Amino acid sequence: MDREWSEKNKAIRALLSKAASFEAGMDALVQFRAEMLGQIDHIMKDYPEDAFYQMPFPGAKGYHSKTLAYSVWHIFRIEDIVAHEMIAGDRQVLFSQGFDASVRSPIVTTGNELSGDALVEFSRALDIAQLHRYARAVAESTDRLLKDLKYPDLRRKFGEETRTRLQDSGCVSDDESACWLIDYWCGKDVRGLIGMPFSRHWIMHIEAMNRIKNRLCKMARRGVDPVACCGLSCRHCFLAEWCGSCRTSYNVCAFAACSPDGACPNAKCCREKGIDGCYECDELEVCEKGFYTPTNDGASAARAQSLYIRAHGKRAFLAMQDRLHERYDFAKTQEILGQDVAEGLRIMEAMGSETGK
Ligand code: SF4
Ligand code: SF4
Ligand code: SF4
Repeated sequence: MDREWSEKNKAIRALLSKAASFEAGMDALVQFRAEMLGQIDHIMKDYPEDAFYQMPFPGAKGYHSKTLAYSVWHIFRIEDIVAHEMIAGDRQVLFSQGFDASVRSPIVTTGNELSGDALVEFSRALDIAQLHRYARAVAESTDRLLKDLKYPDLRRKFGEETRTRLQDSGCVSDDESACWLIDYWCGKDVRGLIGMPFSRHWIMHIEAMNRIKNRLCKMARRGVDPVACCGLSCRHCFLAEWCGSCRTSYNVCAFAACSPDGACPNAKCCREKGIDGCYECDELEVCEKGFYTPTNDGASAARAQSLYIRAHGKRAFLAMQDRLHERYDFAKTQEILGQDVAEGLRIMEAMGSETGK
């Protein structure tokens, strides 16, 4: 489990375990959930539709053997059921806010019973934008519930009445891969439920989602030109686990994600001009579009890289980048190439001469 998240989770549990620090613990938990939800938001907003029903680790042991769509559905169905059928004793968000229709899910259960092709078909059927709205609505509803809890509530246990309510809800499948959930939940008090469906369960599935999306980005980049249109190297990019290159639909570079139409201005301009990249453009030296926006601190480094490609070609550029990354420890090229185009070029020329260009 991610060390930072695991430590955070442990600290929150410790705070919640004492009456004196309970409120601080609840605030920390709500904040932690917001941080985790931020990761889900990124994934839900930026990837293409098909990313949500891909299963890049079929047959693997672990949560990463599922799809992105399933992971989100599963996290928030479990939370919705537990928060409302058990703790609050009211209607689930799925039904009270009409998400049972808008998400277009063929099931209302947690999905534990699904596997293989059935899981892919289920994922394909969902309306991803609505699923995202559902996830956010459940998270907000649970946050409100958490903030209303008092320390003595943590000891509350659940009896036969809750068990019957869960069974009658039809939200847990009778399949052996799912029916144990009711025993599991009913064996816990409120503290135990907070510790699993509302926190640890998120951590485990978000980590699995990260593995899935990392692999999907890698798969998207396979066989694709690793040189970005603006002159960066996708092969050496520190965002490569998040982004599948500006030459694929998995482009989540900030300049694409922040554009209203989701298209990077440089990549779009290159397409419109019918050129491979900015290095082929006669406006390169003066262009202020997209990555070359003067306020972007990576503009000079990108321009220098495009000029290098123009002079020496992509092959030499990638070999030079290999060398640069072997020699220096850095994430963004501007950390090495600086803010001056001529100086950046000089550094690359020196590095390139070592690789024989
Ligand atoms: S700014 Fe545009 S062209 Fe440059 S790396 Fe990002 S998406 Fe690709
Ligand atoms: S952020 Fe830009 S350079 Fe990095 S992988 Fe994406 S498109 Fe390539
Ligand atoms: S005008 Fe700017 S963004 Fe467009 S291709 Fe030329 S250098 Fe690239």
